[in-house]
Amino acid sequence: MPKLSRRVETFTDSVIRRMTRISDEYGAINLSQGFPDFSPPKELLDRLAQVAYEDYHQYSITFGAQNLREALAEKQGKAIGRPIDPETEVVVTCGGTEAMMCAMMTICNPHDKVMVFSPFYENYGADAILSGAEPIYIPLVPPDYHFDLEQIEKGFQSGAKAIIICNPSNPCGKVFTREELTAISRLVLKYDAFAITDEVYEHLVYAPYQHTYMASLPGMFEHTITCNSLSKTFSITGWRLGYLIAPEAVIEGAKKVHDFLTVGAAAPLQEAAVTGLHFPESYYDGLKSLYTEKRDYFLTGLDRIGLEHNVPQGTYFVLLDISRFLALPQFAGFTDLEFCEWMIREIGVAAVPGSSFFKEPVFHLIRLHFAREKATLDEALDRLARLAGLLK
Ligand code: GLN
Repeated sequence: MPKLSRRVETFTDSVIRRMTRISDEYGAINLSQGFPDFSPPKELLDRLAQVAYEDYHQYSITFGAQNLREALAEKQGKAIGRPIDPETEVVVTCGGTEAMMCAMMTICNPHDKVMVFSPFYENYGADAILSGAEPIYIPLVPPDYHFDLEQIEKGFQSGAKAIIICNPSNPCGKVFTREELTAISRLVLKYDAFAITDEVYEHLVYAPYQHTYMASLPGMFEHTITCNSLSKTFSITGWRLGYLIAPEAVIEGAKKVHDFLTVGAAAPLQEAAVTGLHFPESYYDGLKSLYTEKRDYFLTGLDRIGLEHNVPQGTYFVLLDISRFLALPQFAGFTDLEFCEWMIREIGVAAVPGSSFFKEPVFHLIRLHFAREKATLDEALDRLARLAGLLK
């Protein structure tokens, strides 16, 4: 058989999605790939049922249905304190995944440098390879996941065209402060670069932390490509609805990339999702309370059974420190991936090995999420208690 492209030889499948497949194979409780096990808001489901009998079965406008773009522009314009033009500053994509890929392909030539914080959401690695960009990794240093601004300045000095900022951060749950983002924004402006943000967890930020939109900072709208999604906000990860917001010149390019990659997101789902974007502010408050409760419940449970973890400021992820397990004789020589595979088989809980998020050799962390019904979290904690028992 002829050889495949070098491109596909340089990255593996997604470890996050692989863990879901292994979890399903063993019938484990899947706390690996982040998605809720509860229903989307009823209003969205009711609208989806109606839409089936309305005229939404052919292509929508390639860069997004008119009413969806208008609703997105309205909601996000309010958030960033600047009107957004639904015609020229928004593209609806197939999930946040396509939004990020589209952003990278729109601005990067082969060998362009792009800064990526490490740990990072694993897609960014493959996005860089597929768009030809060369990542420069900027460590987010545990336990508080701070970074060194000088390293970012050096990155820009070496010609980096953009910096990718996942805020709130998957997998470490960091919420960048306004001061941190302002400091980064000054460098973006000084070096005439781009900030590419991934803000899909914008509404999952826990008090006292607050989400700051990079595009809202002085002078930054013209330098920010915001990638976002409806997946987490409306519990509809399978609908694959994401979007880009950026200045007109970027969006012009992004529309072309998006058009030839996918033509467009699913028309009936776009129509049904508009319902959610018209929810009042109280919906987002409710979502935040729901996840705050889940976070507190799950973390308290982890404390009770004696598993060490970080305290996420945002997102629905928590990193467990498995160092003490890896020091046990039965895990001698185990990688974090092998530990996660063992955990699925023997404990019945699926997690994502931390090494899939870090550029540095970090093998002592695993990522769990808590977007689960309380009963599922209880069962997961019971099972994890058996794991913790190995340390006794
Ligand atoms: N963002 C979620 C995670 O990190 C799901 C990502 C995905 O599989 N598209 O688990």
